[in-house]
Amino acid sequence: MDQILKQARLLKAVLNESELSLINAQALRPLTADEVFTFRLAACNNQVDRDIERFTEKTLEGLAVLFVGRPVLMDHKWSAGSQTARVYAADVEPMAGVDGGMQLVLRCYMPRLQGNSDTIAAIESGLLRECSVGVLTKRAICSICGADRRTTWCEHIKGTEYDGKQCYIELDGAEDAYEVSMLPVPAQPAAGVVKRYGGPEGPDSDPAGGAPDENMAWQDEALLELEKTRF
Ligand SMILES: [Zn+2]
Repeated sequence: MDQILKQARLLKAVLNESELSLINAQALRPLTADEVFTFRLAACNNQVDRDIERFTEKTLEGLAVLFVGRPVLMDHKWSAGSQTARVYAADVEPMAGVDGGMQLVLRCYMPRLQGNSDTIAAIESGLLRECSVGVLTKRAICSICGADRRTTWCEHIKGTEYDGKQCYIELDGAEDAYEVSMLPVPAQPAAGVVKRYGGPEGPDSDPAGGAPDENMAWQDEALLELEKTRF
């Protein structure tokens, strides 16, 4: 099954005693505050995003549990050398300035080793702040008819209005949290995002249409596939 990749953002973090004890639950030996660098990641939220999808709040809660202990990778690569940091705690928090907005915030730490100093400097200076998260949800529900697009095709097109209601996809049920990845190069606007639910995608996947919007959609999909093969 394809995982869902979403863009995320690096935030500043504060390190205190209770945070340090959570970090030490993940560490092989007790670490002192001087030995670790921490940061926060706004991973995903319950708002309809640029893919016209939203995570339900219950899904965010489930992902918070699943993400603890997961690695933070560099550019989606799974090798010992690319594992730079680890998620030590995660919570669902209100989004500043967004009424009803809730977001999953991952708290991550990185040992202050010589090999990590370039990465830490890049985060601290704001050079490295684009991330993506890879998750899997149990269901992808059409907001109009309730069909699970993972297994069923329905006629509704994301972003289109039906009787005044916009069609979007509800990503429901936390199945797995694979990774958080830092992207060293500024991502394509559409990179790090997207999914296929399996099954026919109907009108969305018709290449015959000549309208500019549809061409754009295809270009986006190509970028996303590229992202996937890199991973
Ligand atoms: Zn539908």
